Amino acid sequence: MSFTGHGNKIIKERIMDSATAMKLVKKGKKVPISSRAARECIGLAYGFFSPLEGFMDAQTLSSVCQEMRLTDGTLWPIPILLDIDADTLVQNHLQLNDRVVLTYQEQPLALMDITEIYQYDRQKIAQSVLGTTDNKHPGVMMVNQWHSYFIAGPIQLVNKPQFQSPFDRFWYTPLQLRQIFQEKGWQHIIAHQTRNVPHTGHEWLMKGAWFSANEDLSVEQLKTGILVSCIIGPKRIGDYIDEAILLGQQQLQDSSYFRADIHLVSLVLWDMRYAGPKEALLHAIIRSNLGCTHHMFGRDHAGVGSYYDPYDAHRIFDQLPQGGMKIKPVRLLEWNYCPICQEVTYSGLCGHSQEQQQFSGTLIRNIIKDQLLPPVHLMRPEVFQTTRQTAEEYGFGSPFCNERYLRERQPVFRLSSLD
Ligand SMILES: [Zn+2]
Repeated sequence: MSFTGHGNKIIKERIMDSATAMKLVKKGKKVPISSRAARECIGLAYGFFSPLEGFMDAQTLSSVCQEMRLTDGTLWPIPILLDIDADTLVQNHLQLNDRVVLTYQEQPLALMDITEIYQYDRQKIAQSVLGTTDNKHPGVMMVNQWHSYFIAGPIQLVNKPQFQSPFDRFWYTPLQLRQIFQEKGWQHIIAHQTRNVPHTGHEWLMKGAWFSANEDLSVEQLKTGILVSCIIGPKRIGDYIDEAILLGQQQLQDSSYFRADIHLVSLVLWDMRYAGPKEALLHAIIRSNLGCTHHMFGRDHAGVGSYYDPYDAHRIFDQLPQGGMKIKPVRLLEWNYCPICQEVTYSGLCGHSQEQQQFSGTLIRNIIKDQLLPPVHLMRPEVFQTTRQTAEEYGFGSPFCNERYLRERQPVFRLSSLD
């Protein structure tokens, strides 16, 4: 069965059978790549970034930066690039038409046919994609750390990632998700992008979006699913550990705050650029490739600091040409706690706007850090318990990334040796 993704293109996996792979890998020059590039290779191979087939060439890069489009006109907001240092280029005598083996964790990961080797002004990339060249912006910092050469070309995965526990139960490829959605009979699928252990504000964000995605379904059709799509990528000190995010989200279902037949937790490998509105578009593209019909966008989606207005990610969807994006954005304001209503309420809904309390991530973090049970209106007790358990099991005692976690954490996936 074939499934259509972003740009109305059929989603194709780019994975080579192991006998051919083994033969070709022996012949190719080996090029080690960064963990970011490895994650993007996997994303490309399984169709998360469909219709992309590999890393972008200079013409595509320039078109994405200037027009927010691929060269065939398909909407595309953020370049997917493979940077490479001059030494590697020279030592390996890399040249056009080479078929090279991209390696990660000292194992072959993918084959790439080099179609172009080029240089590009990284400041230009930062300015056009992120709207700033300020090195304090984490996306700019990433771009500035890239090597000064890029190699372009289609890739083929030769080694499937082996996801480690607990990541393995949340790893679904786009085609697997499509299959699951069909089996579940979901008419609408709404994506919730997250890097958080859920507090009740997040829970209501999902519930509100679920109502909203149901608006045009009859009682008989009422089959809307929520895909909780956790971003797994590089971590910074103080972030929730990945294991707590996934298992905390899953706990909402295990404790029946969401029914198992309308809720699914999954992961996407992606290094956040914090590109605000443009990143919102990319998230929408990825989730449309996963088969989602709706995508929720709350306050300050993929933003950082004060580089973007908190609702820029809502506005960008109004500026798209007709048919540029099939997935429907569900734009939400904030869910707050109202002590007068004694419940979670939507901003601008009840008349106690003076009394409404925002969910403060910092407050909840401090409560968790002090190992206090948060009040039920802030976080479900089962979710809190899960957070504590994952801290013991995976986080060296803390549900937040510390130096030790960054250094010694278990890898999300491993690559096996091909021999
Ligand atoms: Zn109220």
